[in-house]
Amino acid sequence: MTIKHYKYSIEGIVQGVGFRPFVYTLALKYSLKGFVLNDSMGVKISLEGRISDIKNFEKDLYDKLPPLARIDNLEKTSSVLKNFNNFEITKSKNDNAKHSLVSPDFAMCDECLNEMREKNNRRYNYFFTNCTNCGPRYSIIKTVPYDRPNTSMQPFVMCKECQEEYDNPTDRRYHAQPISCEKCGPTLSLKDMQGNVISTNLDAIKGLADFIKKGHIVAMKGMGGFHLMCDATNNSTIKNLRKKKNRPSKPFAVMMKSIEDVESSCILSQSEKSRVLSNERPIVLLKTKKNNISSLVAPYIDRLGVFLAYTPLHVKLLDFLENPIVATSANRSGEPIVTNEDDLRDKLDGVIEYYLDYNREIINSSDDSVLQIIDNKDLIMRASRGITPLSVKVKTNEKRKILAVGAHQKNAIAIFLNNQVILSPYIGDLDNIATVEAFYKTLKTFKEFYDFEPDLIVCDKHPLYESTKWAKSQNLPVVEVQHHYAHILSTMFEHDINEKVLGIAWDGTGYGDDGTIWGGEFFVCDRSNYERVAYFEPFLLLGSDASIKDIRRIVLSIILDCEEDTVYKEFLSSFKTSELNLLKQMHKKELNSPKCSAVGRLFDMVAVLAGVCDRVSYDGESGLILESMYDKNINESYNIYLDGEVIKYKHIIKEMIKDKEPALIASKFINSLVDIVCDVSDNYSYKTLLSGGVFQNRTILEKILKRRNNTVFQSKLPINDGSIAIGQLANILS
Ligand code: ZN
Ligand code: ZN
Ligand code: FE
Repeated sequence: MTIKHYKYSIEGIVQGVGFRPFVYTLALKYSLKGFVLNDSMGVKISLEGRISDIKNFEKDLYDKLPPLARIDNLEKTSSVLKNFNNFEITKSKNDNAKHSLVSPDFAMCDECLNEMREKNNRRYNYFFTNCTNCGPRYSIIKTVPYDRPNTSMQPFVMCKECQEEYDNPTDRRYHAQPISCEKCGPTLSLKDMQGNVISTNLDAIKGLADFIKKGHIVAMKGMGGFHLMCDATNNSTIKNLRKKKNRPSKPFAVMMKSIEDVESSCILSQSEKSRVLSNERPIVLLKTKKNNISSLVAPYIDRLGVFLAYTPLHVKLLDFLENPIVATSANRSGEPIVTNEDDLRDKLDGVIEYYLDYNREIINSSDDSVLQIIDNKDLIMRASRGITPLSVKVKTNEKRKILAVGAHQKNAIAIFLNNQVILSPYIGDLDNIATVEAFYKTLKTFKEFYDFEPDLIVCDKHPLYESTKWAKSQNLPVVEVQHHYAHILSTMFEHDINEKVLGIAWDGTGYGDDGTIWGGEFFVCDRSNYERVAYFEPFLLLGSDASIKDIRRIVLSIILDCEEDTVYKEFLSSFKTSELNLLKQMHKKELNSPKCSAVGRLFDMVAVLAGVCDRVSYDGESGLILESMYDKNINESYNIYLDGEVIKYKHIIKEMIKDKEPALIASKFINSLVDIVCDVSDNYSYKTLLSGGVFQNRTILEKILKRRNNTVFQSKLPINDGSIAIGQLANILS
């Protein structure tokens, strides 16, 4: 009987996810001796035993991996026999380099939920139940290694029972950093806006539920921040919420207590269902059917963002309620999610009346992730709780540490070190001080997590982006990457594509190489170069940002580019004469009117012509509304065509005015965008890559995928500007 000794060095998501007890249990199962320990790179194992047992161990290591763990790299070396007496989990080696990965927060697991439901369990109804397979991570961690003293659980001293679980390698809660019970954990308090405590713990949850039932708008501290909440079936409360938040039509997400409730309000495919139930518990956009949810929750559209209760606290709250609830990030419009009660009372005074707080600090904020399922794959619109920080191991010879600061809208940063690319959670649109501060804070957090000081910074080309301005003020080498090229690069990165492709990047705005606003791009490109082979004919954005809000100006601008015709008369009469004359002057002299060729803006144009909206109150509104008007029985399209490198479309306005019927206009326009993608793609033998916010439109995306093989889109990373930082890194890592 030959005994062998092997040493293993494992990298990946292997800390704080029950990996060492898992190894311990496997070692006992196969009578192997040695030890396992955490170090700054991941996990080290020494294993002595019979070859056949070691083989079985290795097989189980991959096959039976704990749900939140991920092995990126495993190195195995043979070593001299040590004749170990037993198998042990030994104390963490503390060296200076911090390379272990920080995990996102995860939803409560089924085992914890069952315990919470068991009358005789000591965690019956306990609102902070968690274990190594679930619960908070990113939101409570100050620095790595992920040990209790480095988290916001540090002030809570474990009681005897919790400590025993924590110390027992065969327990599901072995080294589960946030564990607690009602005896030793954080306290819940229901408060009014003066901070007076109304009730605590389970009574506080019940009290909050009662306020929701009575039609109040309240807030509750969740995993990564506070949610605003109210009854999703109560029209007058939601009307009130919209008025108080000055949010006329942007959809709210709805939290439901069970998948059965989701199925009774929405139409779900199997893959949508499993995504709703997944341990990331994202908000999933679903097609609605007749239900009791107020039509004011997501006005004018036939989709609803739905998610299930994901912490024990949310589960308990919904236990006390019959109806689904609106649950939306608590913030001042456009600002980051609020994470503490002082900010809550300051920023949401006058909006909410009561809130449920607890005395464990949220160290790092996160929002709910938002996605839809297309072609059985994710199409991610916001990557945050459950998804980010997201790390990807890459093969490269690059040794420099690189920071990518992303775009301006939907900002997220990304870092590269030690062959890992790591994407931060969604930060937001950098156009207010609070979000810019959140951007600085995220930079600081990621530097501290990984002892990361960049050798190089990558940013967008736009000189006025806050992220670009910051990058250029750091006295470090800076590389600028064109926005739409970054969109395609991030898609290439995700799909590990290194050859030449046709990259189609459509969005609402992005700084072009000629200083104009791009956003309807067709690139032939690889990892290091791109050529703009087709683009939409530019028009003037009259008054710049004023056109983005008052979208009638876009139609006017394009009409002024066309030959005069009496069909435009009615539309032109919607402007006051003085205003019209002013805008005509602006157009003629190109005053404060940048050239724009972004497809996102063409949706605005069509929304006006279809008579569905004149002003947009949130990014992407016109696209969403037009999509919900799409009639699949209409096969006609407008004649949008390629003339040299220029895509001609301005002439279709005349036909749209004649078509009158909104659904006809919306459907023909969407069909014609699909046509132009397919027409241009047919000119090339390359793979077609689709990226940018416009492709959040599932009708367009699905129609293209149906007509063209060899077409890919982003599904593990956000398809919108949330991936720009990854594209920026990919440009350097090529
Ligand atoms: Zn659990
Ligand atoms: Zn306890
Ligand atoms: Fe973009």
